[in-house]
Amino acid sequence: MRDNFSSKTKRTLADRVAWKCSFSGCSQVTIGPNVAQDKSTNLGEAAHIFAASEDGPRYNPNMTPVERKSIENGIWMCRHHARLIDNDFFNYSAATLQQWKLIAEESAYKNITKIGSNHPNHPYTLVAIDNDIVFEGVWLSAKNDNWKFEINKFIIGSIELMIDKSTSRNNSGSFVVVESQGDGRILKEPLSWELANNKYIISLIVRDKSIRKSPQSIVSGVAIGIDGEIIIENRTMKIIKGVDYAIQLVRICLSVGFGEIREVPTIGTNLSTYYWKFRNNLNQLGKLAKLDITRLISIPEIANNDSSIPTLNFINRIIDVEILNNGILNNDKIAIKLKLEWGDGTYWEDTININVKNLASCV
Ligand SMILES: [Zn+2]
Repeated sequence: MRDNFSSKTKRTLADRVAWKCSFSGCSQVTIGPNVAQDKSTNLGEAAHIFAASEDGPRYNPNMTPVERKSIENGIWMCRHHARLIDNDFFNYSAATLQQWKLIAEESAYKNITKIGSNHPNHPYTLVAIDNDIVFEGVWLSAKNDNWKFEINKFIIGSIELMIDKSTSRNNSGSFVVVESQGDGRILKEPLSWELANNKYIISLIVRDKSIRKSPQSIVSGVAIGIDGEIIIENRTMKIIKGVDYAIQLVRICLSVGFGEIREVPTIGTNLSTYYWKFRNNLNQLGKLAKLDITRLISIPEIANNDSSIPTLNFINRIIDVEILNNGILNNDKIAIKLKLEWGDGTYWEDTININVKNLASCV
């Protein structure tokens, strides 16, 4: 059973982007003349953002068939990119495709209305460069492992810091993490930048996606309670494995501060620092938490070492992080709702409690 688009929906999807591919940086025109005088040739396709059938990419079991074939769930692409996002679907999140669709529609709108080159309605994503820069950016291109973003504003760090990185000789270990995409990559070479229409554009050549594995394949370990103590059951240490152990690793990593464990500083997060800085903006705090967990699943612990792997590499993608209870601490813990896709493609969501360190140790 496939929930296919109607021909009217396909047509409208194509019309809304002037029949150009919506893949970031492609813009290929998908329509032209046919050898037959009374026909045109269409080389584009209406692709599904969430799959049309259960075995397809980004399938969302919570959607109804009507929602699956609605225009909201479609994106117009050239044939090459429609295939790419379906076959290589681990690389393209629904949130990313939704942003690219909006950007393509806005660009088509700009063409017919001749409005200026600023895009007030462009959807932004948070982008982290290493551990000291986070900016709000518009994804301009993702072609050929060259990711380009237009910088709207810096949330953490500054343009000076970014320019420093572009000239740094010692770039090994630099990485990028994209919040909407739920993915991060090691950079192949130092970042480069340019100034266009008073906006900074940053260009990143990224390596391939790191390999993810099933949570069932990770080793088992001792169960640790929320108080940090080993759990004893029937006078022996409780051993957990698979998803239970994976969740425990997530909880522990999020509760440890970045740099706190000196041997492997990168297995911690900046969550406590973010908490005290952004607790009055829970939406932003949730996105920053998502960005930090995404780093843990995608960037190797020692970034310039080929044999190093990401700490939480049994997760393919963080879909959403929501801060619960208005961000109010309970016993120095914050409750977050975590929604994710495991390395084996199955989904999981639940609430976990994360330690937040007091302000003094975060500044
Ligand atoms: Zn294309």
